[in-house]
Amino acid sequence: MENYDVAVIGLGIVGSSVLARLSEKYRSVGIDQFIPPHTKGSSHGENRIIRAAPSEGLIYAQLAARSFALFEEIAKKSGRTFVYKTGGFDCSTSPSQWAETAKKTCEHYRLPYEEMSGKELNRRYGNFQLPDDAQVILQPEYGHVDAEGSWQGFLDIARNNQADLLLNTKIEHVDLFGKTLSLGNGSKIRAEKIIVCAGSWLKNLIDLRMDLRVQRRVLAWYEIEDPHADIIPFCFADGKNGGDWYGMPSLDRKRLKIGEHNHLSENIRPEEETAPNEKDRNLLSHFVREYTKGINLNPASMAVCRYTLTSDEHFIMDRHPAHDGVYIFSCCSGHGFKYAPVYGEIAESFVDGKKCEFDLGIFKIDRHIRPAPPVAGVRPK
Ligand SMILES: Cc1cc2nc3c(=O)[nH]c(=O)nc-3n(C[C@H](O)[C@H](O)[C@H](O)COP(=O)(O)OP(=O)(O)OC[C@H]3O[C@@H](n4cnc5c(N)ncnc54)[C@H](O)[C@@H]3O)c2cc1C
Repeated sequence: MENYDVAVIGLGIVGSSVLARLSEKYRSVGIDQFIPPHTKGSSHGENRIIRAAPSEGLIYAQLAARSFALFEEIAKKSGRTFVYKTGGFDCSTSPSQWAETAKKTCEHYRLPYEEMSGKELNRRYGNFQLPDDAQVILQPEYGHVDAEGSWQGFLDIARNNQADLLLNTKIEHVDLFGKTLSLGNGSKIRAEKIIVCAGSWLKNLIDLRMDLRVQRRVLAWYEIEDPHADIIPFCFADGKNGGDWYGMPSLDRKRLKIGEHNHLSENIRPEEETAPNEKDRNLLSHFVREYTKGINLNPASMAVCRYTLTSDEHFIMDRHPAHDGVYIFSCCSGHGFKYAPVYGEIAESFVDGKKCEFDLGIFKIDRHIRPAPPVAGVRPK
């Protein structure tokens, strides 16, 4: 049986970042049931929004600041570009507080922003038709990250660090006591430390009575017909009519990608795959019809992705409550890509037993563990 210092389960963007970092100083192995970058999990596609003032909570702004810096470091070393800082905006109509929260985060961390109405944003960026009275917080520290480029980038770093990558290799069972992984090909490996980054499959691997849901999401890309279009990434929470929209131009700026954060909230099994359909198309095209100009109304392409949702939509980054040397990362509530390089640093602090520079209280696993049902005949004290 092969022995390692560190085994990383799952090589989506989270596991790849963790493996890239830990393989700098530990004999490491990363295992994935598919060959990444693949389209079966949550990390595929061309790009993801990255911004310095996320509206999900102040801690995320700290992670974002570190992530911008680390992405830049990695880009310099590899001679590649991962982050495109184009500027972007958060926008909402009452009663949603989305834009107001982004503004407060900017103020708290003294990040630059400009506040304006939807009408003013539409005047400056002629391809938007947002409601005139919408609140807009336009921010320069906003853009998109090359998703599959950076995913591949982390895997390349891991390979250069001599990590073993076992791809197309499913882990059938994790023995947390013996720290042994049983692989689909019948072999076993052992590691001193195990980092579980299995995305939507987490619950299949580690039975912790965790409150996790897996939901289907769909994205659509629309041709930008206006040759002078200047489209920047955005999030628009339409409190009045409903819809938590987000969008960004493709890396070649020829198409606009649109998603809706809740989409149809369809719970699925992790392995379930359903192709995009008419309902998805109508939902996403509604945004293009109502809130943009100069964009073709028929999607040029569509793709399915999945969210793993905790009950409060905050991530899990923690030690296993019962097993030393086992760590769980679930950063997939629809907003986890932008912090990718930071996961490696956080994993390193866990494995080294050192204090992390971030307060990780909000990411503790016990928030998501349901109490065991009462045992018959046993009266709780
Ligand atoms: C539609 C959509 C839009 C998004 N937009 C944004 C955005 O704009 N900005 C942003 O910051 N974030 C965004 N996100 C979130 C971000 O993409 C996710 O947080 C991130 O991709 C999660 O990565 P992951 O590595 O946890 O999961 P995954 O990519 O799913 O990786 C998990 C990996 O584990 C492997 N695995 C699981 N079980 C096993 C097993 N038994 N054996 C071997 N391998 C296994 C899987 O094969 C998979 O490769 C979005 C997500 C979606 C779905």
